[in-house]
Amino acid sequence: MSMNRTGRPTAPVVTAHEGFASLTDGRGLLQSERLIFEKKDYTRTGVDFADIEIAADDLSGLLREEDMGLPGLTEPEAIRHYVRLSQYNHAIDLALYPLGSCTMKHNPRLNEKMARLTGLGDIHPLQPVSTVQGAIQLMDVLARWLKTLTGMPAVALSPKAGAHGELCGLLAIKAAHEASGQGHRRTVLVPKSAHGTNPATAAFVGYSVREIGQTADGRVDIADLKARLSDDVAAIMLTNPNTCGLFERDIIAIADIIHAAGGYFYCDGANFNAIVGRVRPGDLGVDAMHINLHKTFSTPHGGGGPGAGPVVLSEALAAFAPAPWVVSGADGFDLLEHGEGESAANFGRMCAFHGQMGMYIRALTYMLSHGADGLRQVSGDAVLNANYIKASLSDLMSVPFPDGPCMHEALFDDKWLEGTGVTTLDFAKAMIDEGFHPMTMYFPLVVHGAMLIEPTETESKTELDRFITALRALAEDAVKPSNDKTRFTAAPHLAPTKRLDETRAARFPRLVW
Ligand SMILES: *Cc1c(COP(=O)(O)O)cnc(C)c1O
Repeated sequence: MSMNRTGRPTAPVVTAHEGFASLTDGRGLLQSERLIFEKKDYTRTGVDFADIEIAADDLSGLLREEDMGLPGLTEPEAIRHYVRLSQYNHAIDLALYPLGSCTMKHNPRLNEKMARLTGLGDIHPLQPVSTVQGAIQLMDVLARWLKTLTGMPAVALSPKAGAHGELCGLLAIKAAHEASGQGHRRTVLVPKSAHGTNPATAAFVGYSVREIGQTADGRVDIADLKARLSDDVAAIMLTNPNTCGLFERDIIAIADIIHAAGGYFYCDGANFNAIVGRVRPGDLGVDAMHINLHKTFSTPHGGGGPGAGPVVLSEALAAFAPAPWVVSGADGFDLLEHGEGESAANFGRMCAFHGQMGMYIRALTYMLSHGADGLRQVSGDAVLNANYIKASLSDLMSVPFPDGPCMHEALFDDKWLEGTGVTTLDFAKAMIDEGFHPMTMYFPLVVHGAMLIEPTETESKTELDRFITALRALAEDAVKPSNDKTRFTAAPHLAPTKRLDETRAARFPRLVW
């Protein structure tokens, strides 16, 4: 085992911790923690209020009679509760976070510093426009970067996530069809490998979804696409690079086919990280594409928010972009909030105010600190890192589409686990015991037992090697002939919580005690 200069091992120590349990279920310095409402002492309080006389009739008989049921905690107890819970979580600041498709990259601290500048952090969207000229100019500069990087003439900044951007793009497409008397077009084509948000968005807008098949090498099947065209097709939604981590080589032909059939080309831009600075989606015939600022441009993934998913739009769709519109004139910048002038055809708003300003600042900081050449290197390094992982593991783990390099993520299937008694889920859970967040599992759906690994460009070779060493050790153990696979089947052994019923947790959350 190699050591660093202070004697810490640089390779993961793969030892079994079976048979040892602490007396309190703690994990070293990580203490076991219950939910705040499960702390039973409701009689104490961390604050001493003076006794006050309340006349019963002051509240017209609404005076509460039962206890409020708030847990009684002192300030240090409350702080410790939340800090302990935060330690139950994994973060990009703790270790490599290889969730494919999610692009979990380092969030540079410079971005945070800029977002907290008083002149940007302390302003309010209801201030008079004349007092927030700098902030609107920042939106305008960000818009110009996004339009330049994508080769598209317009951008709607306000959508708050990738999925929200999809909704924005499809609403613009629907408005454009209705404006040209094509409102009867009710179908959206989606490849089988698509991210679940694509068909969900199409259905939400009221479209029906028609699936298109995939070739043996993991790309859109053009013959199948042609066979599924009809005059009620409104659009195709396609991810490029696709969710198998492969570049759609026939993308220009696909764009031509859909345009000739009277439909629009919506590109899911979640994987822009793989091509930024190298390919402009506008040159590929794309009509609308969301950009997850929290993926490609390093803003934090917010656990549901605040995110930002600006949508770039082609000439044909630009007029339908939602409000607000940034315009500049002799008196400086202005925001058009209602349909007027060139924004008259807008389909409405995506959200209150202008979207996630803090994310705009972080993303623009990232762009300006990298520069055009730096962003080109981002995609180059992201692809290089993914191929390094693919090449370092593919002698042990099977690759469903082995021909040629991958883009920014390496996809494995579960063929190599056949007959071992270990599943993709078991393998992923065992990674937790080694200190790594699992990769994306069972997605894309077109690959059996899929394991989708995306390292991103922000990982050094040393970090990648640590990850690869851990995965190789696990993979070798998984395929070793042995009847004892509990390292995998009972994993995670070292996490404070074991296998959770995630479906039940999502469908029946316990929100009240
Ligand atoms: C992340 C992702 C989305 C959705 O983006 P959110 O910002 O999470 O709403 C859509 N498509 C693909 C391929 C993605 O990876």
